[in-house]
Amino acid sequence: MMFASFKGCPDCGVPNRIAFMHRWRDDGILESRMGTTRAIMIERDAFAGVLERVEEALGVPLDRILIDAKRRDAKLYVDDVVSGVAGRIIRLAPFRRLGYTVMIRQAATIGLAKAQLLSYRQGKRFIGRAFPVYHPVLFVGDVCGAFESLERKRARPVYGSIGEAWYFELYVDQSLPAEERLELEKTAEVSAQAGYERCAKCGVPLGIGNLHWDLAQGRIIDRNTGEWIIYINVEGVNTVLRELEREIGEDIPRMVNAYTADYYSGLAQKHPGSFLSDLAFMKLRGFGVPDRERPGEEELKAGILVRNAFNAPMVAGMVAAVYAGEGKRFTWEVPEKGTVLVRVETS
Ligand SMILES: [Zn+2]
Repeated sequence: MMFASFKGCPDCGVPNRIAFMHRWRDDGILESRMGTTRAIMIERDAFAGVLERVEEALGVPLDRILIDAKRRDAKLYVDDVVSGVAGRIIRLAPFRRLGYTVMIRQAATIGLAKAQLLSYRQGKRFIGRAFPVYHPVLFVGDVCGAFESLERKRARPVYGSIGEAWYFELYVDQSLPAEERLELEKTAEVSAQAGYERCAKCGVPLGIGNLHWDLAQGRIIDRNTGEWIIYINVEGVNTVLRELEREIGEDIPRMVNAYTADYYSGLAQKHPGSFLSDLAFMKLRGFGVPDRERPGEEELKAGILVRNAFNAPMVAGMVAAVYAGEGKRFTWEVPEKGTVLVRVETS
């Protein structure tokens, strides 16, 4: 696939397609202009790494739970994006393949994968390949959800790797139970003031220009840390974590919190003086709006409130990573849905 016509903003360098398709709202919520989907921009290794560590700690494969949770989220996402008249047209037989092509292109734009459609038989099967891919198992869920939205049929996935590439085959399976109505559990929103400094030309907050969109490889790279960043919808992250908690138990939030904190403290140590020296990065990435971006010791003891927190344990883990130190212990609570209060206790 070619991305030759890819232009960036002359002032901040952010690709026009990103500025056009996404909006950083003044209340700190990052969303897609297509549909109504809220998103975050997170290090791939933070989210995928948390899932891998949960899997290691439990010692059982989580593929089935992850695929099923992501599939349902992706179906709702595609239902939302491909709706109305355009949705009816794209679901018409001659255009359905185009629908997949658009989605593959979108997956590359938001740093999830460089994917290809290898073989497609309408209403029957879909065979694709991806490399690199942000998380092969979650991506199977993404592909299943997109397929089920466009075809209006359930499918059974088969997947595996050959060399470095992942292959996905989906076969329509009439024996799968018809889906009960899917419910969208929306992440709560509260009022907040992000106070972004924005690029005068394209309106994207300053700081996003530090990211490099490598469309040919389907990746977004943070120029400062070299980390792979993915743009992922908040409902997707939360559906996956909620399903894990439902199936495995209430220990999941504690694990997610601890692994997130570990990941970001590791990153901060590797890159001293990076964006992880205060909390200003949080609103840029859509994580939430902290009431203080550079809190002092006393303020940390009193508690930092993050508004529009996308996920309480992960956001609390990020705050803890930035202010980690000897003898410090962090606690968190949710005073109101959509917020998280993070406090340090010193011994
Ligand atoms: Zn700009």
